[in-house]
Amino acid sequence: MLSFLRSRSCFVLLSALVVAVLIAIRLFTSWIGDLPSQGEGVASTALLIAMVAGCALVLVAGLFLARKRCVEGLPDSRCLWGVTLLGVLCAVSCSMLPRHEMSALPLLILLTTGAFCLLWSLLRSLSLMFWWVFFSLEIAQIAGYTQYGSRINSLVIAETMEASAEEVTGYLSSINVAIALSSLVGSVVLCWLMARVMRRCQNRLPLLNAGLFFMLLAGLLGLAIPPAQRHARHFWPCFEIYSLTHACVEAIFHNQETIRRVENLHSPAEQPSSLHTLRGGEGVVLVVHIGESIRADRMSVNGYERDTTPWLRQCPRLINFPRCVSAACDTCQAQIAILTDARRDIYEKDPSLQPHTGSVLDLFAAHGFRIFAFFGKRNATHLKYDLVVRLLTRCAEQKNHAPGSPWTSVPQMAAVLRSLPKGQNTILFINNEGSHTPFFHYDHDNPPFQPAGSTFETPSSHAMEVNNAYDNTVHYTDEFVRRVTSLLQGRPWLYLYISDHGEYLGHDGIWGRAALGESGRDYLSTTGCYVGAFFISSPELEKLHPHFAESLRALQSHTGMLIAQEHIFHTLLGFFDLRTPWYNPALDLTSPNPKSYTGRHPEQTK
Ligand SMILES: [Zn+2]
Repeated sequence: MLSFLRSRSCFVLLSALVVAVLIAIRLFTSWIGDLPSQGEGVASTALLIAMVAGCALVLVAGLFLARKRCVEGLPDSRCLWGVTLLGVLCAVSCSMLPRHEMSALPLLILLTTGAFCLLWSLLRSLSLMFWWVFFSLEIAQIAGYTQYGSRINSLVIAETMEASAEEVTGYLSSINVAIALSSLVGSVVLCWLMARVMRRCQNRLPLLNAGLFFMLLAGLLGLAIPPAQRHARHFWPCFEIYSLTHACVEAIFHNQETIRRVENLHSPAEQPSSLHTLRGGEGVVLVVHIGESIRADRMSVNGYERDTTPWLRQCPRLINFPRCVSAACDTCQAQIAILTDARRDIYEKDPSLQPHTGSVLDLFAAHGFRIFAFFGKRNATHLKYDLVVRLLTRCAEQKNHAPGSPWTSVPQMAAVLRSLPKGQNTILFINNEGSHTPFFHYDHDNPPFQPAGSTFETPSSHAMEVNNAYDNTVHYTDEFVRRVTSLLQGRPWLYLYISDHGEYLGHDGIWGRAALGESGRDYLSTTGCYVGAFFISSPELEKLHPHFAESLRALQSHTGMLIAQEHIFHTLLGFFDLRTPWYNPALDLTSPNPKSYTGRHPEQTK
């Protein structure tokens, strides 16, 4: 009796019996549950049937081959029990699923155990390398999800690739370092256990058969889940491995593809163009400021109850657009939508909405404007993703980086303006960290909203501090604009501000942009897509040419419109009456009858 209990046959019978009971329970509960049949599971049913049939066939062949070679068909029972216990340990400690769906645990255990056996039989101890990375990622993912509500998806990876060293350090708290270390240590312990268990299963063929046996049981159990309830996440770790790889590939491909598309755009200045308002020597300064992460509804100038934009609110020459939709939740794509003739994000399928030409700044450079770019401390420096803005500002003769926070670039601008010959028409292109996470750039000596904190551990439980920090950054930008415009006193100037994308501080039930993917919401269906956008001008500009006065009047009359980043390219051309074949009057807010934005946005009736 005891020898039977220790035998392989006992293990096989017992595990088959447990699975049979689980299948019976599944079928019974779904039968009494009267579940709606959605037909969604058709594809996965076919896949599961193929998996069951495939495993069964190869298993029979494997057992037959073992018999021919006079070896045991399966590893000994100690190895089988050991690997099963390891499967239980890993499924419980490394997968998020049992925390929400306990009923998925048996399937997870079978798949995990099967995957251990199959990979070890094929790669031996080399498979530990794979499992070590996988376990570390999964443990870190559970901790990350608990804190930030976001899983590792392509947006998180792309965001990480985009993040400056400063932003990364914002997340380097002691608790995060402890999590990273414990996930590494935890994964080392699991791998050490695996190596110990697998030492008993030296023969590859029995181990391969065992892997197929576990996968066969998993396939049968998976089939017992009604298609309407079946989800890819139930097939951890197989699906998880697929989705992590897919997220990495998508993030890298996305980056490469975005950069490639911008590189391939021809300059609009290659086509003949003419400037009808300026002849050179007027000393006009055009400021093009692409802001960072400013939601329209967090500016008091747009009705936010906190006075985050006190200067703008009282600025007599402000032309404010409270309803401006940004093209994408991604900085680079927004920069493309602002500076080129792109009308949506560059992955929009309709070719007419994609960019056809390069940066509008090139056209101004072709007509005698000298262009100076002012970036943040770190952005547009060396990261590959920052290449997009560097490409779009290629025509800038000088690129400056703020030595400290964005305010420190104001003296640099003053120095540039002083060095220019009198009457030089100039563009100051500004793109700094603004209100990007970790919401660090504000006046720390005199923060208007307190207590403010930029730690991102469970932001929902630090809602007040995080919101205060964010509002402080908006207040800081308001003061930044005041400082820059005060440098321009006495000159004819136009200041354009538009933020790249919004941010989520619990809005739409989302905390942080990276959690957007996890929320399952489409960016353009959330309030995060409305961004700050305004123009300010000097009276001297209006006096310079009647066209400018006319343009300002037209702009002012269209502030109630729903606009988008697609309007900027054409509005800048229209404002200066810069004629080029790329100009579209329907998207020029200074023309008499511009068309409002018709793309997706939250107010849309579906
Ligand atoms: Zn951004």
